[in-house]
Amino acid sequence: MFITFEGIDGSGKSTQARRLAAALEAQGQPCVLTREPGGSVGAEEIRALVLQGDPDRWSPETELLLFTAARRDHLEQTIRPALARGDIVICDRFADSTRVYQGVSRGDLRAKVDALHGLMIGVEPDLTVLIDMDPAQGLARAKGRGGDEERFEDMGVDLQEKMRAAFLDLAKANARFVVIDGARDIACVARDVLAAVTMRLSQ
Ligand code: C5P
Repeated sequence: MFITFEGIDGSGKSTQARRLAAALEAQGQPCVLTREPGGSVGAEEIRALVLQGDPDRWSPETELLLFTAARRDHLEQTIRPALARGDIVICDRFADSTRVYQGVSRGDLRAKVDALHGLMIGVEPDLTVLIDMDPAQGLARAKGRGGDEERFEDMGVDLQEKMRAAFLDLAKANARFVVIDGARDIACVARDVLAAVTMRLSQ
Protein backbone atom coordinates (compact mmCIF):
# COMPACT_ATOMS: atom_id res chain seq x y z
CA MET A 1 0.00 0.00 0.00
CA PHE A 2 1.20 3.45 -0.97
CA ILE A 3 0.23 6.25 1.43
CA THR A 4 1.13 9.91 0.92
CA PHE A 5 0.92 12.92 3.23
CA GLU A 6 0.20 16.34 1.80
CA GLY A 7 -0.38 19.82 3.15
CA ILE A 8 1.03 23.32 3.23
CA ASP A 9 4.34 24.09 4.93
CA GLY A 10 4.06 23.83 8.69
CA SER A 11 0.94 21.66 8.56
CA GLY A 12 2.65 18.94 10.60
CA LYS A 13 2.52 16.31 7.87
CA SER A 14 6.13 15.17 8.38
CA THR A 15 5.52 14.57 12.09
CA GLN A 16 2.33 12.68 11.27
CA ALA A 17 4.03 10.58 8.58
CA ARG A 18 6.69 9.58 11.14
CA ARG A 19 4.11 8.74 13.76
CA LEU A 20 2.07 6.65 11.35
CA ALA A 21 5.15 4.67 10.31
CA ALA A 22 6.00 4.02 13.97
CA ALA A 23 2.42 2.95 14.77
CA LEU A 24 2.24 0.54 11.82
CA GLU A 25 5.70 -0.88 12.55
CA ALA A 26 4.56 -1.48 16.15
CA GLN A 27 1.69 -3.54 14.70
CA GLY A 28 4.23 -5.62 12.78
CA GLN A 29 3.67 -3.99 9.36
CA PRO A 30 6.96 -3.34 7.56
CA CYS A 31 7.02 0.31 6.43
CA VAL A 32 9.28 2.48 4.36
CA LEU A 33 9.10 6.12 5.41
CA THR A 34 10.29 8.41 2.66
CA ARG A 35 9.92 11.99 1.43
CA GLU A 36 9.80 14.29 -1.56
CA PRO A 37 11.56 16.06 -2.99
CA GLY A 38 14.13 13.36 -2.23
CA GLY A 39 13.79 9.81 -1.01
CA SER A 40 16.64 8.35 -3.11
CA VAL A 41 20.28 9.35 -3.52
CA GLY A 42 19.71 11.06 -6.87
CA ALA A 43 16.48 12.73 -5.82
CA GLU A 44 18.11 14.12 -2.66
CA GLU A 45 20.79 15.66 -4.88
CA ILE A 46 18.08 17.28 -7.00
CA ARG A 47 16.35 18.48 -3.80
CA ALA A 48 19.52 20.32 -2.82
CA LEU A 49 19.81 21.82 -6.31
CA VAL A 50 16.27 23.19 -6.19
CA LEU A 51 15.85 24.17 -2.55
CA GLN A 52 19.29 25.36 -1.46
CA GLY A 53 20.42 27.55 -4.33
CA ASP A 54 19.38 30.95 -5.62
CA PRO A 55 15.55 30.86 -5.72
CA ASP A 56 15.55 32.53 -9.14
CA ARG A 57 18.04 30.13 -10.67
CA TRP A 58 15.38 27.90 -12.29
CA SER A 59 12.44 28.96 -14.42
CA PRO A 60 9.07 27.50 -13.33
CA GLU A 61 9.25 25.01 -16.22
CA THR A 62 12.80 23.88 -15.38
CA GLU A 63 11.82 23.53 -11.74
CA LEU A 64 8.90 21.31 -12.79
CA LEU A 65 11.26 19.12 -14.82
CA LEU A 66 13.67 18.83 -11.87
CA PHE A 67 10.90 17.84 -9.45
CA THR A 68 9.63 15.30 -11.99
CA ALA A 69 13.14 13.88 -12.52
CA ALA A 70 13.54 13.57 -8.76
CA ARG A 71 10.19 11.76 -8.50
CA ARG A 72 11.07 9.35 -11.27
CA ASP A 73 14.32 8.40 -9.52
CA HIS A 74 12.54 8.06 -6.18
CA LEU A 75 9.94 5.80 -7.80
CA GLU A 76 12.56 3.60 -9.47
CA GLN A 77 15.00 3.39 -6.56
CA THR A 78 12.79 3.44 -3.47
CA ILE A 79 9.02 3.29 -3.93
CA ARG A 80 8.59 0.50 -6.50
CA PRO A 81 11.10 -1.88 -4.83
CA ALA A 82 9.45 -1.37 -1.43
CA LEU A 83 5.93 -1.99 -2.80
CA ALA A 84 7.23 -5.08 -4.62
CA ARG A 85 8.51 -6.43 -1.27
CA GLY A 86 5.05 -5.91 0.20
CA ASP A 87 6.07 -3.03 2.47
CA ILE A 88 3.77 -0.11 3.19
CA VAL A 89 5.28 3.02 1.66
CA ILE A 90 4.60 6.26 3.56
CA CYS A 91 5.70 9.28 1.61
CA ASP A 92 5.90 12.85 2.93
CA ARG A 93 4.66 14.74 -0.20
CA PHE A 94 4.27 13.27 -3.67
CA ALA A 95 2.70 14.31 -6.99
CA ASP A 96 -0.10 16.35 -5.37
CA SER A 97 2.57 18.75 -4.05
CA THR A 98 3.73 19.26 -7.63
CA ARG A 99 0.12 19.76 -8.78
CA VAL A 100 -0.15 22.50 -6.15
CA TYR A 101 3.32 24.11 -5.92
CA GLN A 102 4.65 23.78 -9.47
CA GLY A 103 1.11 23.72 -10.90
CA VAL A 104 -0.25 26.95 -9.51
CA SER A 105 2.25 28.91 -7.40
CA ARG A 106 4.40 30.43 -10.17
CA GLY A 107 1.83 30.77 -12.95
CA ASP A 108 -0.59 28.16 -14.25
CA LEU A 109 1.43 25.10 -15.26
CA ARG A 110 -1.28 22.57 -14.43
CA ALA A 111 -1.59 21.13 -17.94
CA LYS A 112 2.17 20.59 -18.13
CA VAL A 113 2.23 19.04 -14.65
CA ASP A 114 -0.50 16.57 -15.64
CA ALA A 115 1.12 15.76 -18.98
CA LEU A 116 4.52 15.06 -17.38
CA HIS A 117 2.94 13.00 -14.63
CA GLY A 118 1.14 10.84 -17.20
CA LEU A 119 4.27 10.43 -19.26
CA MET A 120 6.90 9.87 -16.58
CA ILE A 121 5.28 8.87 -13.28
CA GLY A 122 1.81 7.39 -13.86
CA VAL A 123 1.40 6.21 -10.26
CA GLU A 124 -1.15 7.48 -7.74
CA PRO A 125 -1.18 6.64 -4.03
CA ASP A 126 -3.78 4.26 -2.60
CA LEU A 127 -4.46 6.80 0.14
CA THR A 128 -3.53 10.46 0.52
CA VAL A 129 -3.78 12.09 3.93
CA LEU A 130 -4.22 15.85 3.60
CA ILE A 131 -3.32 17.57 6.85
CA ASP A 132 -5.39 20.73 6.56
CA MET A 133 -4.13 23.79 8.38
CA ASP A 134 -4.77 27.51 8.59
CA PRO A 135 -1.86 29.16 6.70
CA ALA A 136 -1.06 31.75 9.40
CA GLN A 137 -0.67 28.94 11.92
CA GLY A 138 1.26 26.76 9.47
CA LEU A 139 3.61 29.57 8.54
CA ALA A 140 4.34 30.39 12.17
CA ARG A 141 5.20 26.73 12.76
CA ALA A 142 7.35 26.48 9.62
CA LYS A 143 9.28 29.66 10.42
CA GLY A 144 10.02 28.47 13.94
CA ARG A 145 11.69 25.39 12.49
CA GLY A 146 14.53 27.17 10.68
CA GLY A 147 16.76 25.44 8.15
CA ASP A 148 18.15 26.28 4.74
CA GLU A 149 15.52 24.70 2.53
CA GLU A 150 12.63 26.99 3.24
CA ARG A 151 12.56 29.38 0.34
CA PHE A 152 9.07 28.20 -0.51
CA GLU A 153 7.97 29.03 3.00
CA ASP A 154 8.76 32.70 2.40
CA MET A 155 5.75 32.90 0.12
CA GLY A 156 3.53 34.55 2.71
CA VAL A 157 0.04 33.89 3.97
CA ASP A 158 -1.87 34.89 0.79
CA LEU A 159 -0.04 32.43 -1.39
CA GLN A 160 -0.24 29.74 1.29
CA GLU A 161 -4.02 30.34 1.35
CA LYS A 162 -4.06 29.66 -2.40
CA MET A 163 -2.01 26.48 -1.87
CA ARG A 164 -4.38 25.31 0.85
CA ALA A 165 -7.38 25.85 -1.44
CA ALA A 166 -5.63 23.96 -4.24
CA PHE A 167 -4.99 20.98 -1.93
CA LEU A 168 -8.63 21.02 -0.80
CA ASP A 169 -9.79 21.11 -4.44
CA LEU A 170 -7.68 18.03 -5.18
CA ALA A 171 -9.16 16.30 -2.14
CA LYS A 172 -12.71 17.01 -3.33
CA ALA A 173 -11.95 15.63 -6.78
CA ASN A 174 -10.17 12.41 -5.72
CA ALA A 175 -11.65 9.64 -3.56
CA ARG A 176 -8.16 8.52 -2.43
CA PHE A 177 -7.96 11.60 -0.14
CA VAL A 178 -8.84 11.84 3.51
CA VAL A 179 -8.76 15.37 4.97
CA ILE A 180 -7.69 15.71 8.60
CA ASP A 181 -7.83 18.88 10.68
CA GLY A 182 -4.20 19.56 11.59
CA ALA A 183 -4.90 22.40 14.02
CA ARG A 184 -5.43 20.03 16.97
CA ASP A 185 -2.76 18.52 19.17
CA ILE A 186 -0.34 16.06 17.59
CA ALA A 187 -1.68 12.95 19.36
CA CYS A 188 -5.25 13.75 18.36
CA VAL A 189 -4.30 14.19 14.70
CA ALA A 190 -2.21 11.00 14.82
CA ARG A 191 -5.17 9.01 16.18
CA ASP A 192 -7.39 10.19 13.30
CA VAL A 193 -4.68 9.41 10.75
CA LEU A 194 -4.22 5.87 12.10
CA ALA A 195 -7.99 5.31 12.12
CA ALA A 196 -8.29 6.42 8.48
CA VAL A 197 -5.38 4.22 7.40
CA THR A 198 -6.62 1.19 9.36
CA MET A 199 -10.03 1.56 7.71
CA ARG A 200 -8.48 1.79 4.24
CA LEU A 201 -6.19 -1.22 4.93
CA SER A 202 -9.19 -3.35 5.89
CA GLN A 203 -11.15 -2.51 2.70
O1 C5P B 1 7.89 19.28 2.83
P1 C5P B 1 9.23 19.96 2.93
O2 C5P B 1 9.30 20.99 4.01
O3 C5P B 1 10.37 18.98 2.98
O4 C5P B 1 9.42 20.74 1.54
C1 C5P B 1 10.54 21.58 1.33
C2 C5P B 1 10.11 22.83 0.56
O5 C5P B 1 9.88 22.53 -0.83
C3 C5P B 1 8.83 23.39 1.09
O6 C5P B 1 9.01 24.78 1.28
C4 C5P B 1 7.81 23.09 0.02
O7 C5P B 1 6.82 24.07 -0.08
C5 C5P B 1 8.63 23.02 -1.25
N1 C5P B 1 8.09 22.13 -2.26
C6 C5P B 1 7.72 22.61 -3.51
N2 C5P B 1 7.23 21.75 -4.45
C7 C5P B 1 7.12 20.44 -4.21
C8 C5P B 1 7.50 19.93 -2.95
C9 C5P B 1 7.99 20.80 -2.00
O8 C5P B 1 7.78 23.79 -3.74
N3 C5P B 1 6.64 19.65 -5.17
